[in-house]
Amino acid sequence: MIDSILFKDVEIMTSSERKQGDVYVLHGQIVAIQPSLSVHAELVINDKGLALIPGVIDPHVHFREPGITHKESIYSGSKAAVRGGVTSFFEMPNTRPSTIDEATLSEKKSIASRTSLANYNFFIGATYSNLDILNRVENVPGIKVFVGSSTGNMLVDDQDILEEMFRNGSRLIAVHSEDESTIRQNNGLFSGSTDVHDHPKIRDVSAAVKSTKRLIALSKKYKRRLHICHLTTGEEATLLAASHADYITTEVTPQHLLLWGPACYDQLGTLAQINPPIREKKQADMLWNHLLKGTIQCVGTDHAPHTLEEKMMPFGTAPSGMPGVETSLPLFLTLAYQGKCSYQNVITWLCESPAAIYGIQNKGQLTEGYDADLTLVDLKKTHTLSNKNVISKCGWTAFDGWQCTGDVIATFVNGQPVYREGDFFETVKGKEVQMS
Ligand SMILES: [Zn+2]
Repeated sequence: MIDSILFKDVEIMTSSERKQGDVYVLHGQIVAIQPSLSVHAELVINDKGLALIPGVIDPHVHFREPGITHKESIYSGSKAAVRGGVTSFFEMPNTRPSTIDEATLSEKKSIASRTSLANYNFFIGATYSNLDILNRVENVPGIKVFVGSSTGNMLVDDQDILEEMFRNGSRLIAVHSEDESTIRQNNGLFSGSTDVHDHPKIRDVSAAVKSTKRLIALSKKYKRRLHICHLTTGEEATLLAASHADYITTEVTPQHLLLWGPACYDQLGTLAQINPPIREKKQADMLWNHLLKGTIQCVGTDHAPHTLEEKMMPFGTAPSGMPGVETSLPLFLTLAYQGKCSYQNVITWLCESPAAIYGIQNKGQLTEGYDADLTLVDLKKTHTLSNKNVISKCGWTAFDGWQCTGDVIATFVNGQPVYREGDFFETVKGKEVQMS
């Protein structure tokens, strides 16, 4: 364990300012930020020209453990996370077994406490028969509901059950929002299709809009905290803006902003197949504008790895999902470098907003008294994202070949160095993220 770290003469970046100075970390906390500090520290980080930002919080990942660990594990996923400057993650319940009760939840927390390099917590998944458990389990980021995505036993589409869920309890409800009946109907129209270009036609805009409309109504009826995961349409964003409810929030993924059809399906085939689907450029542009305006508050990666072998199967058989936890920050630093947004925007969307949305204590900000989850970045470093460098067990990225400006140099979790320029330091493990 490292007791103390002094960051000398770094560019300190927060969601509101950029300034040169020193940052002193003691016993896992940021204790002092000053123009110049002369204190003794066990580790002194003194690199010219680097910037220090709050560690990224990724509120939406699938690390596949237990049960599907040939695709990823909590260990391998957390390693990819810290490579990407992510210091805390929230993981989704569609593992094997599904995370739908106390036993499966504590099993995940136990695995993470032994193997995760980053801080962690896990959603509890809703089924038709575990309503009482959803509000009873302790310290989870929220309840994950799959409305319209056939994810094993976790499809909850029945209005009465949803009403009961929204009526009882106060915990955040995070939803995969696509209308199941619309998807089934469209599936009939395209049955037997082996053309991935049909994917966004089956899971069409109307399926997403219909479901989100229904969820907003439920949330407003019971004033219940709602978070729409991975928003994909401008129409939904407009509905959310018009709802004027501060207890409804949403997120967007890098892939829904940066990729669009038909080009992504031409180039990547089923590698670009994810749920909800990547749509046309018009939608990506609208999502970007809504992110800039604040209708969309945060970025989550929906890191959902599958092996290349699985993804190379024909459309109809290939699974939906792509990795993303390690490429999100470099891609957003690049967007800021290109002037499409500010570095302050990036820190808001990737660090501060997830903490605010989920009520995470003492994380998401580079502020005295906060946890020392920190990412050291080189804003000028040019590099090319490549399948060859992927840390995730899946071994590929949809952004293979993309030129980036801005990269993660080192990552610190609870005041401990866990990653630096290709090397991982694995002795100290992450902690369970405490929800307020
Ligand atoms: Zn997901």
